[in-house]
Amino acid sequence: MPEIIEIEMYRRPLIALVGERLSGIELPDVHYARPVGADATLAAVRSTSLTAVRRVGKLLLLDHDGPDLQGTLGLRFGMTGRLLIDEVGPIDRLEYSSGRNDPAWDRVRLRYGDHVVAVRDPRRLGSIELEPEESLLGVDAWTISFEDLDAAMAGRSAPMKSFLLNQKAIAGLGNLLADEVLWRAGVSPMRPVNEVHPAERERLAATIREVITDLDRRGGSHRGDSFPLRDAAATCTRDGAVMRHDTVGGRSTWWCPAHQG
Ligand SMILES: [Zn+2]
Repeated sequence: MPEIIEIEMYRRPLIALVGERLSGIELPDVHYARPVGADATLAAVRSTSLTAVRRVGKLLLLDHDGPDLQGTLGLRFGMTGRLLIDEVGPIDRLEYSSGRNDPAWDRVRLRYGDHVVAVRDPRRLGSIELEPEESLLGVDAWTISFEDLDAAMAGRSAPMKSFLLNQKAIAGLGNLLADEVLWRAGVSPMRPVNEVHPAERERLAATIREVITDLDRRGGSHRGDSFPLRDAAATCTRDGAVMRHDTVGGRSTWWCPAHQG
């Protein structure tokens, strides 16, 4: 958390600020700038105007244009970063994060006209970067096609869960969405990528799109059908099997041993 859906929720209200001039960049936490020590370079886009607000996977991109230069600021939100516009957040509270709302956790503040855009991040694993390397990210999960997924899977043998979380392969899925996709598609998180057949790949691509659309409509990555099953006492709502918990690729993974093969 936050995953692709939450970043899209951050992006939408920022569109209203397009056309505003960036009058100030404050970094209450200089370590939030990437690469380390790059805090001064961010000032390059001051006095330019916001021209577009884009998103690739979990990376939010603010494009700027001025008389002398263009520049893109990239925001990453880590595990607990929330975006606020004039102290109002598109998301009040992130799952698994503190319910407190402390301005001392503001890592960066951007002033556009009369508005202040802040990133409030208790665990400070997010970052701000000038000209982030977008090409390092894989295909955006929101609109992924079978062909996109098939190409991303080529030559890989990692467990499916690790593959879905690999942002260089597919950009945007986090822990909850990956588990929901695999649960809905009936694929084990441990299955090696190269053992997933073409018909299953087709179903997986459709399931990724469906999960994102559904959960966006329901209000977040934690609104999946399998989310209430992330519990040792839970049984699968499809077949009654006891849910299993494993660590795959270092991440806590819940899955059903009966229908996920
Ligand atoms: Zn099941």
